[in-house]
Amino acid sequence: MKTMKIPVAKPFLGVEEADAAHAAVLSHWVTQGPRVQEFEENFANFVGSKHAIAVSNCTTGLHLAMLLAEIGAGDEVICPSMSYIATANCIVYAGAKPVFAEVGQDYNLDLEDTRSKIGPKTKAILVVHQVGLPADIDGFRALCDEHNLILIEDAACAAGSVYRGKKIGSHSDLVVFSFHPRKVITTGDGGMITTSRDDFAARARLLRQHGMSVNDRIRHEAKTVIMEDHLEVGYNYRLTDIQAAVGIHQLHRLPWLIEERSKIAEQYLSAFKNLPGIILPSVPENCSTNWQSFSVLLDSESKIDRNELMQVLLDRGVSTRRGVMNSHRATAYAHRNESLPYSEMLEDRSIILPLYVPMTEEEVAYVIHAFTEEILRLS
Ligand SMILES: *Cc1c(COP(=O)(O)O)cnc(C)c1O
Repeated sequence: MKTMKIPVAKPFLGVEEADAAHAAVLSHWVTQGPRVQEFEENFANFVGSKHAIAVSNCTTGLHLAMLLAEIGAGDEVICPSMSYIATANCIVYAGAKPVFAEVGQDYNLDLEDTRSKIGPKTKAILVVHQVGLPADIDGFRALCDEHNLILIEDAACAAGSVYRGKKIGSHSDLVVFSFHPRKVITTGDGGMITTSRDDFAARARLLRQHGMSVNDRIRHEAKTVIMEDHLEVGYNYRLTDIQAAVGIHQLHRLPWLIEERSKIAEQYLSAFKNLPGIILPSVPENCSTNWQSFSVLLDSESKIDRNELMQVLLDRGVSTRRGVMNSHRATAYAHRNESLPYSEMLEDRSIILPLYVPMTEEEVAYVIHAFTEEILRLS
């Protein structure tokens, strides 16, 4: 077999997105405008939420979610350490403290460990639908209700994923998505907050635009002179119309993208099911994933060194990534001197395999062949 070169991920962008960005530029309306509004309406319809508010990225969206939840100095928010570090950072932006809990084998926050971390300062639980697989929203909602806490969902990876028959974004009042190119759909950078609460939606729109009482577009279209005010200290967390133009087409493609990703994931699952020493991702009965990533875990019996496995695969042209990292191990949080043994084990023993659209039959077969051979050789 000749050597191929296979990336771990690649955004799907077509001529429609390019044309739409082109048209947005030529319209001369390049910051938040009509295309942002259309993207928001389409996104709210797609996930089944009352409101969708576009923001510059998921991290700024999560910051706004903290502010909407009135989280501030002295508060604690429980979140997984094993997540992209923005999950924890947004809590710090609000002046509060991220309290790290363990995740389970599905990389999602562990309900019982979360329960054990609840204290008098706990104000919210920030669950993450890691690599697109829905967390146990009902379990966490019940826990929040029991302790009078606010539930926030970091759905950065989870556009199009489904929990108990409804899409992520429709289950709770503060859900935030990402459109970074590493996610299933992209606007370059971009994010979206979904909520069912009118007050949250209104304040999010205010805060993302400097706290301004009237948005640029309304002022631009007004027949009478409008004098704006700034009602509180806000931020510039806007998405641009150029990005939204791309997002509108990405969202159209999302169901198809998920179908294509699922086909590749199914091929991996069936090809690897009898390989020794590995644990494959599994999707609970009551949900579906968008397969943002396909992460394989080396089990405790396996003597394979994960980094060596990554290197030998790269030598054969197959790019992989280590699994999701732990925030408490990053230098930014290392001074807290914490240990989360299970999350650390998962980080050290998981590997993310290539999965993108379009991935040719030949490329899928090549990854399957290389991964199978190396697992067997190193076992
Ligand atoms: C990607 C990601 C983020 C950050 O998203 P941006 O849009 O890049 O700000 C936050 N949380 C999780 C879980 C992510 O995967």
